[in-house]
Amino acid sequence: MCGIIGCVGRDGETLDVLVHGLSKLEYRGYDSAGVALGGNGVSVTKRSGRIERLRDALEDDPVEGSVGIGHTRWSTHGPPTDANAHPHRDCTGDVAVVHNGIIENYQSIRDELVAAGHDFASDTDTEVVPHLVEAALADGADPESALRQAVDRLEGSFAIAAIVAGTAAVFVARNDSPLVLGLDDDATYLASDVPAFRDYTDRVVYLADGEFARLDADDWTVTDETGQRVQKEVDTVSWDAEETGKSGYDHFMLKEIHEQPRALRQCLRGRVDELSGSVDIEDLGDLSPTGVQFVACGTSYHAALYGAQLYRQAGIPAQTFLASEYATAPPPIGDALVVGVTQSGETADTLSALREARHRGARTLAVTNTVGSTAARECDHTLYIRAGPEIGVAASKTFASQLSALNLLALGTAPVGDAREAIAALRDLPGQVQELLDESRAQEVAQLYQDAGAYFFIGRGHQHPVALEGALKMKEITYKHAEGFAAGELKHGPLALVTENTPVFAMVVGDGEQARKTVGNVKEVEARDAPVVAVTDGQTDVDRYADYVLDVPETHPCASAVLANVQLQLVSYHTAKLLGRSIDKPRNLAKSVTVE
Ligand code: GLU
Repeated sequence: MCGIIGCVGRDGETLDVLVHGLSKLEYRGYDSAGVALGGNGVSVTKRSGRIERLRDALEDDPVEGSVGIGHTRWSTHGPPTDANAHPHRDCTGDVAVVHNGIIENYQSIRDELVAAGHDFASDTDTEVVPHLVEAALADGADPESALRQAVDRLEGSFAIAAIVAGTAAVFVARNDSPLVLGLDDDATYLASDVPAFRDYTDRVVYLADGEFARLDADDWTVTDETGQRVQKEVDTVSWDAEETGKSGYDHFMLKEIHEQPRALRQCLRGRVDELSGSVDIEDLGDLSPTGVQFVACGTSYHAALYGAQLYRQAGIPAQTFLASEYATAPPPIGDALVVGVTQSGETADTLSALREARHRGARTLAVTNTVGSTAARECDHTLYIRAGPEIGVAASKTFASQLSALNLLALGTAPVGDAREAIAALRDLPGQVQELLDESRAQEVAQLYQDAGAYFFIGRGHQHPVALEGALKMKEITYKHAEGFAAGELKHGPLALVTENTPVFAMVVGDGEQARKTVGNVKEVEARDAPVVAVTDGQTDVDRYADYVLDVPETHPCASAVLANVQLQLVSYHTAKLLGRSIDKPRNLAKSVTVE
């Protein structure tokens, strides 16, 4: 689930590289951290809790080595304790292993190893791996084949890195959990995600499922399950190392909210021709589905709801399913397309729904932010949203970029008629978001209502997913009760919850029927004395009934969801800040949810 870092060849600096890498992976969410350094022997230091605890332990008792691995854990087997933190060792203490993911058949392997005399020190599924490696080494295998033999026994999802005393190399295996190698002239790196080593190199190699790697200081090899050498492409990543720092903002989330104009521009770049109104997206060919099923979770699910609306508006049947509920979806018909929306490209529920869709014979498309991710590699097509790295656990810019990318997808693959107006609106969107960021009064709203008992969000049509996303963001980072509703649903139940202590955020854009009906709903809550915050472009008279107005500029309907959402992001952010919450790493949440 969380993070792995490894490095070979940074003699004297290995520990610093590992701890720095772990801090760059913190954003993925974790509950424990640890490192192992190798050379002649192997030393392991690990602690539950924040990386600071690990740092303190290492300051008290420094360790050295020419090779090392580090880990941030998000527990799946056994509580977050020092003993359960990774790395895990074998009985001899010569093998250390870190692992992300779940080993499904660990219990039977553990029983077998215990019967053979192995002593276990943790509750984790992971610990079977060093003991399996130990057994293979004892049988005469070299470290590389010992890991291969161990992995051969495993069922489940894993990214594994191991070091063995006496060998200045890191041994790696991947199945269903991300791993990327970093290459420099006299050092090699390994991580779950590029930012962990981006300060040292921009040359990377993405490992695929079933692949193994051996990293030496001045060499690296990748092999497949049978031990055959695999020729891998070396990619160059373009993100600046600086882009993974906070650049003067108090939180990554605020920085990322402010990066939205740039992210939206990147999403559009080179993909639209405004004059002809055509959209040309690399890797999509001339996809023209007769039906679309979206699968996604969390924020991506809200983007997917919006994507399905776009297709339905163009006359193409489209539905959205929570990825974890896809088993109950009807089979995709004809040449239907199944679109998985996942910012990390590693969301286990979404990957499993996409695999199910393929099994049912559908073509699949990944909408993701992560080049080389599992979703991107496994789907028939990929649409990258190009938001750049997002470190805050609560999604912000990736949601805006998902909406923009889904607009492009619908414009490029559905019979939408003349797309010129929509494309012009998408082109103007970055500038409008910038203006909104510069002038937003969301902070005042946060101040006014920070003590509220609960927050409600309502909207219709394109603003319905925005209402859901506004509520999710509020929950995630303020830990306060928040709910989003289709505005029409309010009177069918939720209205019972509305009091003078529950501000209602109403998204009212345009002057059509949906906007006018939402104004009607605003009157209903106003009559129950609830404070109303209208997020509006001023085309209706909602301001007469609202206690507070957050402005958004008038635009084409396809762009208004992004704008309204920016106001809601800011309200949640400032409320969480006033309440002193851990905004970038909310409790109990992880950035990349790689278990089902
Ligand atoms: N399943 C392992 C554990 O519980 C690894 C969890 C992770 O991916 O961090 O320790």
